[in-house]
Amino acid sequence: MKLGVNEITFGGGEPLLHPDILKILSLSKKKGFSIGVITNGSIMNETLAKSIVDNCDWIRFSISGNNEAVHDKIRSPGSFEKLCKSVKILNYYKGNSKLKVGCNCVIQNNNYQRLDKIIIKCISLQVDFLFFKVAHGMGQYQLSISQWKEVGSWLKKAVRQYNGIITNIQNLYYFFSSNIYDYKSLSQGYPVQKFYQENNIKCFVSIFHFTISAEGDIYPCCYLQYCNRSWNEKIMNQFKIGNIITESIDYVIGRIKCFFYDSIMEFPRRISQECGACTRFCLFNKTITDVYKEIINEK
Ligand code: SF4
Repeated sequence: MKLGVNEITFGGGEPLLHPDILKILSLSKKKGFSIGVITNGSIMNETLAKSIVDNCDWIRFSISGNNEAVHDKIRSPGSFEKLCKSVKILNYYKGNSKLKVGCNCVIQNNNYQRLDKIIIKCISLQVDFLFFKVAHGMGQYQLSISQWKEVGSWLKKAVRQYNGIITNIQNLYYFFSSNIYDYKSLSQGYPVQKFYQENNIKCFVSIFHFTISAEGDIYPCCYLQYCNRSWNEKIMNQFKIGNIITESIDYVIGRIKCFFYDSIMEFPRRISQECGACTRFCLFNKTITDVYKEIINEK
């Protein structure tokens, strides 16, 4: 609260496995935060569902396939059944509450030909929304240029309203068709690297957003967070800007301001490789960069 935060998203790892998750959710709600949860759906029961309904604004389940064979191949054996059961339990307790229940699907080479079937599955699960994301980084899951082109063609056909579910297909199609994502960059795991570099876009995200690890370490965003990204271990700890448990709030705020200053003055030169994987904020950053450039030119 002292940092002026008004919205918290609990992600993972798996946040619902935390032994104090019930207390964490109710305390966050009592303090007045808007709360979102990102989960793999591996755990859900009556107590947890009631707590989520009472305290959260939204919850997003990670779905990787339309059936057990596809989803479990990407995740782990038995995970699809658990996911579907968790969604059903939550929907049962959701009733007429304002909680939004949704799914998130990362497009990768094991599921890219089944995206329409994943939409149908999510409609049958009665979730409110389904967001598709593109796979970042390199690995066996990454699509080739020709496979990404197939996704681009599918998006063109799939742009429409679906009864009973909100999707981000229109946005994704815009990203593909306006070259914000280009096929070569997508296949190299850094979908927006060219977009950021060619347009000299700066990052303004750290004014509005930061990420805290389970240990209290603060990062400007989840893309630059200490994590096990096997695709680029060099970034581990490189962008840590403080610790919310062991350091004073004033020190942490000072470090956040420094990062923000750096990210405007040095961006994208300093951290462009990692930022090339960051698809979440590219339109926001482009818009604010345009405003920023106009203000600077006016002075
Ligand atoms: S553009 Fe870079 S610094 Fe900004 S949010 Fe994305 S990864 Fe983080």
